This record gives sequence, structure tokens and C-alpha cells, in this order.
Amino acid sequence: METLSDWLLSLPLQQIPYQAVLDLVDNKMKISGVFLGAELRWVGCQGSRPGLRGYPCSLWTLFHVLTVQHEATPTALDNTGLEDKAAPVLQVMRRYIRTFFGCKECGQHFEQAAAASMDEVKSGEEEVLWLWNQHNRVNTRLAGSLSDDPLFPKAAWPSPALCPACHEEKNGVHVWNRDNVLRFLRHHYGASNLSPRYSLSPPQLPAAPGPAQTRPPQEERPAAGGGERRAEEQPEPRPELPAPRQQEEKKKKEEVLGRGEGGVWILGLGFNSVDMSLCVVLYVSSCLFLMLLFFFFKVRSRRWKLRHSRLYV
Ligand SMILES: Cc1cc2nc3c(=O)[nH]c(=O)nc-3n(C[C@H](O)[C@H](O)[C@H](O)COP(=O)(O)OP(=O)(O)OC[C@H]3O[C@@H](n4cnc5c(N)ncnc54)[C@H](O)[C@@H]3O)c2cc1C
Repeated sequence: METLSDWLLSLPLQQIPYQAVLDLVDNKMKISGVFLGAELRWVGCQGSRPGLRGYPCSLWTLFHVLTVQHEATPTALDNTGLEDKAAPVLQVMRRYIRTFFGCKECGQHFEQAAAASMDEVKSGEEEVLWLWNQHNRVNTRLAGSLSDDPLFPKAAWPSPALCPACHEEKNGVHVWNRDNVLRFLRHHYGASNLSPRYSLSPPQLPAAPGPAQTRPPQEERPAAGGGERRAEEQPEPRPELPAPRQQEEKKKKEEVLGRGEGGVWILGLGFNSVDMSLCVVLYVSSCLFLMLLFFFFKVRSRRWKLRHSRLYV
């Protein structure tokens, strides 16, 4: 994607031929190491089998993050031509879905929703909540459908386990506490909750405003049993953001992993070829050390036995 981006930016053209983009994505130029593998592994949107979650899940996630970041730092859009727009993130999302999203039916549904109420969005807060509400409508529509991952069943989100303060009951009817939902979303999709583990450059985002009066969000983990609730609802502390210097070292190491250069995944941990070589070296050296210890004590005990047997003689 980086190569694609560099290439697109370097083109002195007003319009880019569609076929040229396809050729680059298909790596017709055979640029080494630049290709999409047959099997994609998603960090936060891994489905329980191929075809589930993945790209559409990450698209939702990306735009939720963007609405929250835009509300936190509206000035980030200065001089982009979007700064005066009422709901810039939603407008960009609408155009992106219309133009690039492969699921045309999804695009049509989203377009209908956007045409119906996107104009009413006037502030950053409303933008965050509009997308949340829209996503929940889609969740409700798709619950139990073929695209529903049994390990991550679609339901109104956030669940009471994830954010108890978001849910209320009035006259026996469930209602959302929108203030608490907003607080929860600001925290869940806020800068302080983004892990830089897989980013190539350290994030330059400000902290999310105000502490959320909700349970801390967790990374998603599939539920143990098929039809059970999402395991994301089971509290699990999220790793702290590393200090800048550690982050820099980590980043260098992860650049190699992130690009998939000989990396393997064991128990959810990524190992590159350097890690694997270190493991082998450590394994061999500890074997040698144990053998040396063994012979040392064996020789010593023989000498000791000889000495003691002479005493008796
Ligand atoms: C704009 C858009 C429209 C779509 N329309 C359709 C459609 O019409 N038909 C169809 O079959 N598929 C549609 N999809 C795909 C579908 O919504 C899911 O993305 C896909 O089925 C993968 O689902 P998932 O279980 O990974 O969770 P997703 O629904 O993709 O959610 C991803 C993550 O976002 C979080 N989340 C869930 N709900 C909310 C919320 N309300 N607010 C904030 N965060 C939330 C959760 O952590 C969840 O795991 C659409 C996708 C997009 C991006």
C-alpha cells in the first residue's frame, strides 16, 4: 500500500488510468516483497473463518476512529478543503463507500441512510453518534445472517457488559444514555486506546478528552463457545502505550514483522527471522552449558569417590 501511495503521489497526471492501478495492485511489475498474501491475517478483525469480518470490519473501525479523532482535533483538517464542512469524516466516508466499497448492496444501504439524515449532522459529537447509530442499525439488520461470525455475533453495541452506563430502562423500555455512549466511544476509539504496535510511525494524536465513566474497552477475542456472547465483553487489560524510545526500538523490529518478511505467528505473538535465530542460538548454547555442567559434576563425583575409597584402604 505504501508503494502504491508513493507511486500515486509521484504521478504528474490529473487522472490515473484504472488499469494502471490494477496492474500495480496485482504486482504486474513484480516488485519484490510487494504483494497481498493468499491468506490475510487481521489484527483486530480476524474472522473465525475466511470471508468473515476482515475488511468491512476494519472499515467501520477506521471511520469510527476518524469521527472520534476529528471531534477531538477539528483543526487537523485545516487547509484540506474539508475544514468548513459540517460532517467532513462522514462525507468522505460516504464518497469512499460509494466509489470503492466492493459490496454494492452495502453501499446502497449506506447511501440511503446518508441521504436521509446525514445533512442533520452539525457537530463533531453528532458525527460520532450518527455513525454509531448507523452501525447499530446495520448490526440489527444483519444479526443472524450469513455474514454474522458465530464467534462475534452482531448485536446492539456496546453491550451492557462493555458499557453498563450506556444502557438505561425507562418505563420498562431499553433506552440508550447517549451522553455515556459518546463518552464510551471517545474512549474506545480515542488516541489513548490506539495501539501503535503495527504502525510504521508513532501516532501524533492528542489524548481523548475527559475520562469515560464506563468500563475500559478491551481488544476483541473470540468467544469460547459458538453462540456465546462476544468475549470482548470480558474485561482484559489493554497494554500500555510504550515510551517513545522503547516505541522507536519496537517500531524498527516490527517494521520487519509488519511487512511479513519471514515472520511467523505463535500463540498470537509475531516472530521474525532474527527472533527465530536467537531462539536457536539460545537453545543450542543452553544445551552445551547443561552438558558441560553434567560432565563437570560427573568427573568431580568420581574424584570424590576415589578420594574417599583410598581413605578406607
Ligand atoms: C458502511 C458499511 C455498510 C455495510 N452494509 C452492509 C449491508 O448492508 N449488508 C451486509 O451484509 N453487510 C454490510 N456491511 C458489512 C457488515 O456491516 C460488517 O462489517 C461485516 O459483516 C463484518 O462484521 P463484524 O462482525 O466483523 O463486525 P462489524 O459490524 O464490522 O463491526 C466491527 C467492530 O466495530 C465495533 N462496533 C460494532 N458496532 C458498533 C457501533 N454501533 N458503533 C461503534 N462500533 C461498533 C465492534 O467492536 C465490532 O467488532 C457494511 C459495512 C460497512 C463498512
